[in-house]
Amino acid sequence: MSTQIVFTSKNQLADKTQMNESSDFVNIVECQREYFNTDATKSIDFRIHQLKKLKKLIRKYEDQILEALKQDLGRDPYEGYVTELMLLINEINYFIKKLRSWARPKSVDSSFFLIPSKSKIYYEPYGVCLVIAPWNYPFLLSMRPLISAMCAGNCITLKCSEFAPYTNQVILELINNHFPQEYLYALDCGAQETEELVKSGYDFILFTGSNAIGKSIMKSAADTLTPLVLELGGKNPVIVDESANIKLAAKRIVWGKFINSGQTCLAPDYIYVHITRKAEFIKAIEEQIVKFYGKDPINHPDYGKIINSNHYQRLIHLLDDTKIILGGNTDEAQLKIEPTLVEVDSHLDKIMQEEIFGPILPILSYKDLDILIHHFRKLPKPLALYHFSTDKPSIHKVNHSLSFGGGCVNDCIMHVTNKHLPFGGIGASGFGSYVGEHGYRTFSHAKPVLERGRFMLADYLPFMSTYTRTKSNLFKMIAKIIGY
Ligand code: NAD
Repeated sequence: MSTQIVFTSKNQLADKTQMNESSDFVNIVECQREYFNTDATKSIDFRIHQLKKLKKLIRKYEDQILEALKQDLGRDPYEGYVTELMLLINEINYFIKKLRSWARPKSVDSSFFLIPSKSKIYYEPYGVCLVIAPWNYPFLLSMRPLISAMCAGNCITLKCSEFAPYTNQVILELINNHFPQEYLYALDCGAQETEELVKSGYDFILFTGSNAIGKSIMKSAADTLTPLVLELGGKNPVIVDESANIKLAAKRIVWGKFINSGQTCLAPDYIYVHITRKAEFIKAIEEQIVKFYGKDPINHPDYGKIINSNHYQRLIHLLDDTKIILGGNTDEAQLKIEPTLVEVDSHLDKIMQEEIFGPILPILSYKDLDILIHHFRKLPKPLALYHFSTDKPSIHKVNHSLSFGGGCVNDCIMHVTNKHLPFGGIGASGFGSYVGEHGYRTFSHAKPVLERGRFMLADYLPFMSTYTRTKSNLFKMIAKIIGY
């Protein structure tokens, strides 16, 4: 690896070679819980200080992070900066600015029978949280949940994906060599060890990854009743209707689909284009691909690679039995597949059965939006849905009839860049959300507390004393009058 990183573990827990026994994992949790119980992380000043420190470290390690992303995914440093670091720094700044007001206990009204009393909601950290990250945006998807959990005052174990080893080295050095392990601790163990880790007694888990592993994490979490958020993948549809601005749609779809070689959870998975605009749309996509990546995308420096040969082979097999209408060239040595458009006649085709998660884009056509909506309603709910249209009634119809994690009208992916919008799935694409204030709330338990004084109206009402018929009738009458 060409970065300057030398992983020198500062302490026993940070030594990865010793991290394969379930007792080691229990040890991490206990060590972090003991620290959490000192209440140090509950101080708002402490949290702000740690977020500022993390921001400085991200700046300090910027070149190494971008180099590691290049090594793991062949990503251009500029792309790495825009899609991973920029979002993160911006969100940390936002947390630092807003944390004090979010963390203030919220006073709410007390109901009539509780007068006089004070009702408050306290936002308390869960305690010791586990964040499990995937490999496709290995820095952002490790750090973004981590900063939400830090903002909420938790201690955190971060489990990076074993498939992005260069980025992991930087993360492990950045976290383990600069923060006390009892507060933040990063490791990059494999699947088997992660199964043990999940069972080690965490107070909250945020998992980002595939649907299959998400289910298994949820089963393990059920044994200990550990609350969790599942950020999963799925097949994100795009509708390009007859009113769409085709050039604009093609430009934004090509960017959203082929960035990071299609290995983006929010990338368009397949397109339904209105039959009357199909030929024009395919031509526009072709032009855009050339504009973005030239005539030889595989050798274009901005065009990334597939993460490893397993995923490369999986994608090559998906290409079998499809009708390639554009692209289709591959290079096994570089693990690259060029932006490829395939024509698909039916949703029963092999390529429509699983999330593609690579640079292959199936194109289907439709005639009637109502029939298409009816069809989508039978499919698992996607993480995202994108609609290219200039027709307000159609936009309204799609938004109100279909359920999906989140989405865009006339764009794709960009909703995740808005720190004011929650990010998360629904149904098969997961549940729970984070980003911005939603991240702070997700990693906090909203604890309601009713504070009453010596006198309380309820003490004088019949439900607190013997239930005589006259008293209860009188009480029921009053209750009905005041709306109970
Ligand atoms: P994955 O499910 O294979 O792995 C995710 C994490 O789980 C990794 O850290 C991995 O080490 C760990 N893991 C693997 N097997 C495990 C097991 N048996 N028990 C416990 N942990 C285990 O996913 P991936 O290949 O890293 O990422 C790709 C998937 O993630 C795609 O489906 C993509 O759509 C999804 N994704 C979703 C989001 C989102 O925010 N919703 C973001 C990125 C990726």
